[in-house]
Amino acid sequence: MEMPELPDLGETNFSGMVSIVTGGGSGIGASLAKRLTELGSRVTIVDIDEESGRHVANGIGCDYVNFDVADLAAWEQSVASVTDRFGSLDLLCLNAGIGSRPRGHTVTDDPVPWILDTYRNVIAVNIDGVILGTMTALPVMEKQGSGSILVTASVAGIRTQPPDPIYSLSKSAVISFVRSIAPALEDRGVRINALCPGSVDTPIQPEDRRREGRPMSPPEDIAEAMAKILASDDTGGIWIASSSDYPVWRYEFASAIDGPPD
Ligand code: NAD
Repeated sequence: MEMPELPDLGETNFSGMVSIVTGGGSGIGASLAKRLTELGSRVTIVDIDEESGRHVANGIGCDYVNFDVADLAAWEQSVASVTDRFGSLDLLCLNAGIGSRPRGHTVTDDPVPWILDTYRNVIAVNIDGVILGTMTALPVMEKQGSGSILVTASVAGIRTQPPDPIYSLSKSAVISFVRSIAPALEDRGVRINALCPGSVDTPIQPEDRRREGRPMSPPEDIAEAMAKILASDDTGGIWIASSSDYPVWRYEFASAIDGPPD
């Protein structure tokens, strides 16, 4: 089976491009904000954790806006303010995300209390954050005739993730969203893709996984793959970065049930 790989960044330069990176106050988002800044983009970090968001933004020399990605009014206000100030919105990285499994819970613990407690919030951040961000940026990008949206999904959205079914559900949902909405966006000059990391060494990782000594990719490797996807001309692509030991590759879903589009 052919596994399409990402082109190298080569002479890629994002200078003049305006980016928003959600969840940029930590982990993958912080590495991505840094990499996009190095490549010349004017980056605004969005995060709900003001202290870490500002700290990362100051360290990189980019801008910071504090808001909850599940808040539509905050999206509208912030996208308007970024485009008024910098003149465009070219790269939108919908990366903020949370897990639902409380620290210390195992697969054998009763899932009822913690799933009922946490699932709405996980859906708000991991799904609403992607849909609201895309819908708010789309009119701006359509008017420009260009733009690229990149969603941080997860391999947990393709394979099963028994310790955290709600996280898995949320990542499957955004993968389906990206694949299904890509044609409508393409008609408007806008690309949308998703990257699915495996285990990455960031604070989202539960302690038990660290204790197991599970191999984890550095967030910088994921950020590099994300920059390559943003620089590519792909759309509707679901890219897998399962481990730093393997190339990043484009996942092809089984086509047997695909009929003509409705
Ligand atoms: P992280 O915890 O280091 O960073 C997540 C950031 O999102 C934090 O700064 C947090 O404050 C922010 N955030 C949380 N809720 C928010 C909200 N409502 N509004 C705005 N910001 C909010 O974790 P990470 O590993 O860097 O995660 C980034 C993305 O990568 C997530 O979508 C995560 O699901 C995904 N991912 C991570 C891994 C991994 O192993 N680390 C694997 C696959 C996918």
